[in-house]
Amino acid sequence: MISNFLKIFGYGPRYLIFTVTSRCNAFCDFCWNWENVLDAGRFAQANDKIARNELSLEEISTLADSFPALLSVNLCGGEPFLRNDLVDIVSIFHNKTKTKHLSISTNGFLTERIIEYTTKILINNPKLNLRLFISIDGPKKEHEQSRKVKGGFDMLLNTARLLHDMSKSHDNLLLACNINFNSNTQHYISDFLDEVIDLHYFTDINIDLIRGNPFKKDLLNVDLSLFIKLKNKLKTHQENSKDTPSSLYLALGDLGSEITIKCAQSEKREFSCHGGSKMIVMDDLGNIWPCELLMNKVMGNVRDFNYNIKKLLHSSQAKEITKFVNEKKCHCTWECAINAGIVFNPFYYPIVLYKTILKMLK
Ligand code: SF4
Ligand code: SF4
Repeated sequence: MISNFLKIFGYGPRYLIFTVTSRCNAFCDFCWNWENVLDAGRFAQANDKIARNELSLEEISTLADSFPALLSVNLCGGEPFLRNDLVDIVSIFHNKTKTKHLSISTNGFLTERIIEYTTKILINNPKLNLRLFISIDGPKKEHEQSRKVKGGFDMLLNTARLLHDMSKSHDNLLLACNINFNSNTQHYISDFLDEVIDLHYFTDINIDLIRGNPFKKDLLNVDLSLFIKLKNKLKTHQENSKDTPSSLYLALGDLGSEITIKCAQSEKREFSCHGGSKMIVMDDLGNIWPCELLMNKVMGNVRDFNYNIKKLLHSSQAKEITKFVNEKKCHCTWECAINAGIVFNPFYYPIVLYKTILKMLK
């Protein structure tokens, strides 16, 4: 509790999102990172020659020494499980940055490897709360069309089933799914949500509004009223389900959804963003960004700062970008930034407490 408090209010970055690789075994229409995925080699496999100069395990380890204690780390990509050393990367962050909450976002296609690595991660880090996010975008045909992976739907369902079984004997493993809401999925996601719920594999279900610079730009043309309807449907399910996470977690999610919708409607920033300060994004090459949307605003590369994150964030280039963010010169609906904005801002705590109590009383 006290250590979490210090992490929230302490100076420096406390939430790291790290795209450990840009290699991917899919190529999704809505991918925000598609330019790097293309650069890394479309459909690259784990043992292929690595086209990009990804940070090595040794570099990651040195860099981790320079971080303050982290509240939370998300490893994504690309497909993170394509990295042979993913298990060690997790241990580095857990041991060196004292993070107790680490999530990995995966497309779920590499079943055998995901099960093997997750087992090792849990054995090596028994005190880590591990959250696996599997992306699922619709029924088989639509999912495979959007991801360009034939047979991918069955592979991810198999992975989810096995991880769900694993979670029954590991309290520190939580299985979640992310459903992307875009102009294509909006037509069938409501019915599909029922199918996902009926699987009973996922303790947490998230519906993310498409954002940024997707590969297919027309996917941004969403009907917000359908999104709001869907969010309400999900909320009702979560309030009535025994499978969902804690009341506090649900309260945070509710508030996050409300702010997301407000941002989408007003097309303004409706939250305090900590991009570039408490929350940073790092790519596989060591570039630091304030968030995944401002990919043209590189704060610096860790290789140029002797793998010292503090030095990098004190550079004039980094400070210039933090100033840009603090002056509210950008806006978005990115749920990760919105949720971080809630956690790192005590102004929201009474609202979260109130919502938590209401949920507990239901
Ligand atoms: S699986 Fe993820 S990283 Fe890979 S192409 Fe799809 S959205 Fe992008
Ligand atoms: S408001 Fe959005 S776009 Fe701007 S820095 Fe924060 S996360 Fe990035």
